[in-house]
Amino acid sequence: MRLFKTFAICFLSLAANAATDFPDQEKILNVLRANPHFTITAARVWQDASAQPESFNTVVLVDNESKWKSTSVMDAQLLKSSRIFEPCGVVLKKALVLNVSFTASGLAILGNERPDPSVGPAEILIARSGLPANIMTGVLVKNRTRERDVAYAFNRSSVERASQSGKDWSSLLYSYWVSDKYISNPPQSDYVASYSTLAHELTHILGDLGHTDDYPNLMSNSDKAGSKSGALNREQCSEIKKNMIR
Ligand SMILES: [Zn+2]
Repeated sequence: MRLFKTFAICFLSLAANAATDFPDQEKILNVLRANPHFTITAARVWQDASAQPESFNTVVLVDNESKWKSTSVMDAQLLKSSRIFEPCGVVLKKALVLNVSFTASGLAILGNERPDPSVGPAEILIARSGLPANIMTGVLVKNRTRERDVAYAFNRSSVERASQSGKDWSSLLYSYWVSDKYISNPPQSDYVASYSTLAHELTHILGDLGHTDDYPNLMSNSDKAGSKSGALNREQCSEIKKNMIR
């Protein structure tokens, strides 16, 4: 009994290691555990040790049925994204990676190709309900239907624009959605190897940025050969540093 207690205390102190915890980790987990549309099956904190003047964090929900589920795939994608921001003096410092299994209600939302237009996107119910607005949250899903062939982000400008129509999109603010079709980028001539769809979506939010015709670039608006790369220009770097959620 005494031995058991000692182990229990060790386990608790490891679980509450401030150096490896994600900021507000328990608060975030409690909110997401109450979401009826998915069940969290595993949680871990990914970290990039690179030291840069500026850093940001993100919560990532990983669909257990998707190709994102592989730890090595996920870690490689997080690191690739973080390195894309390095020339700006910015690093993705920590990601709280949560594996989730969608419940029947979650799957119904994700599979709904014709969501109620009076509500807005179906995803509005899933990721961010109840989370503080300043937590950037990604949902990385299986490519289930034509409509869910997703790679998009909701930044401040896009949510403000949508809200002008009278719909409340605020629970989507700072969320991004990428299907597993975009883990490695489609083998098209406009993409070069340094490009990352995940980093593209993160940049929409971090810099409150749209697309550019300054090629090659991470935020390219073109399908021209070689137009999509991992490059960010000086202006985009300064917008990221000005707007990013720290
Ligand atoms: Zn985009």
